[in-house]
Amino acid sequence: MKNLKIAIQKSGRLNEKSVQLLKNCGLSFENYKSSLITKVNNFNLEILFLRDDDIPGYVAQGIADLGIVGENVIDESRAKVSYLQRLGFGRCMLKLAVPTSSEITELKDLEGKSIATSYPVILQEFLDEYKINASIQEISGSVEIAPGLGLSDAICDIVSTGTTLKNNGLKPFADVRSSEAILIGRDGLTENPILCELMQRLQSVLLAKETKYVVLNVERTNLPQITELLHGVKSPTVVPLADEGWVAVHTVITEDDFWDKINKLKAAGAQGIVVMPIEKIIL
Ligand code: ATP
Ligand code: ZN
Repeated sequence: MKNLKIAIQKSGRLNEKSVQLLKNCGLSFENYKSSLITKVNNFNLEILFLRDDDIPGYVAQGIADLGIVGENVIDESRAKVSYLQRLGFGRCMLKLAVPTSSEITELKDLEGKSIATSYPVILQEFLDEYKINASIQEISGSVEIAPGLGLSDAICDIVSTGTTLKNNGLKPFADVRSSEAILIGRDGLTENPILCELMQRLQSVLLAKETKYVVLNVERTNLPQITELLHGVKSPTVVPLADEGWVAVHTVITEDDFWDKINKLKAAGAQGIVVMPIEKIIL
């Protein structure tokens, strides 16, 4: 069978997590940063290491079959690709920000003003949606220094913690769009058996990441309340302990309601709660 090619970022914020995700899918390969392409030893896949900005175009043209890249980059490129899977990392927000002393405090104040950004396509769409006329100054990096240099009144840039903005005397005042890393594919790929296998592995790794394996001890008399609280992959496993009045309960808890669940379990009499990471869940 012909190998598929997946493009991932060569170096930068998405590189390490993209490599780790593929390795967690059981793919074995050398992470040669110096080469453009590497072959996966145990799967029909080759990995291309590229600048993130080039990935949507490579996939749209079919040079790569798949790619891992931020949604911000895909939207900015306007490349025609299919969204296959959100990957849950590389989360960030494209925001509008102004100098802390600025009179601009809401979107309509941007009318007639200039905004520096590396994302002119996304920003223009956003301004059109809100019917704001503002001029866009396209610059490729260090956008946050533009207002200080007198190049623009505002900026539109990616923010995750906000420290860079703060250090440059800027404050965010509106969100333009959120973004996370996503698996994209070229058109006409969905029936491909290599992709189907990869997607199945990816989903089991992503699902496992959202869950924890929990073991707890509880007095038999409190077991009904505990099982009531737990809806694991299936009903929880209950194992008798040496002390006859007690049992151990094994289950899976999702990350989003984890602390809420743990607190309720404790209140219902759970003791000695042990929480472990899960590597994969095969449904
Ligand atoms: P390249 O050399 O591949 O062009 P780059 O410098 O353009 O890399 P990075 O800074 O490595 O890009 O960011 C890659 C992606 O990571 C961004 O496009 C975005 O989707 C995501 N990301 C997550 N958090 C942040 C952040 N704080 N700043 C910038 N990008 C972020
Ligand atoms: Zn880039």
